[in-house]
Amino acid sequence: MSLFGKSENLNSLPYEIVLDIALKCTNCILSKTRTKVVFGHGPVPCDLMLIGEGPGEKEDLSGLPFVGRAGQLLTQILSSINIDREKDIYITNIVKCRPPENRAPEKEETEACYPYLEQQIKLIKPKIILLAGAPSTKVVLKNEEPMSKIRGKWFKLEGTDINVMPIFHPSYLLRNPSKENGSPKWLTWQDMKEVKGALDFFRSAKELGA
Ligand code: URA
Repeated sequence: MSLFGKSENLNSLPYEIVLDIALKCTNCILSKTRTKVVFGHGPVPCDLMLIGEGPGEKEDLSGLPFVGRAGQLLTQILSSINIDREKDIYITNIVKCRPPENRAPEKEETEACYPYLEQQIKLIKPKIILLAGAPSTKVVLKNEEPMSKIRGKWFKLEGTDINVMPIFHPSYLLRNPSKENGSPKWLTWQDMKEVKGALDFFRSAKELGA
């Protein structure tokens, strides 16, 4: 059992305490097979946040998100628009524990983990959230349209002013390596340029005190 049981209220708790509770979490079956809880990584607060699906093998072993092959591609994509993984983005997943055999997380698992994500968003206070792939788009935006249709579009996170953009998951880009015009990689490049423009806009507005 976690510190407060299944109905624990993470609202208003500071980051370190939420992290501490998550590291001991047993709210779903994934806790039985995980090696490490992969809570998230990056500055708190942070203007940019990325939410992926769930830890894979390398993440489960290290306790850090997106450190495997998909993570390496993510790092390259981010640095191509001058985003430093350590300084400029907070990265997490919809589930904090690895699903066995890297299967997709089940509804009960994403629901059990959602309070952590909700509180992370409150504490990180992002201006922009990137949703990498369909599972995180479904959980965060409650949108089940195909990624090919909604990637690169801006949404608002319900009840907030946060700008949200679904993008292709880096694992999908690894399976589709073409860089031709119109390919998933090319489309992601367009999306990321748009994200960088928006991020620069928010940064200069902040500097001007707007
Ligand atoms: N894929 C994800 O969605 N998240 C990770 O942390 C690693 C791979």
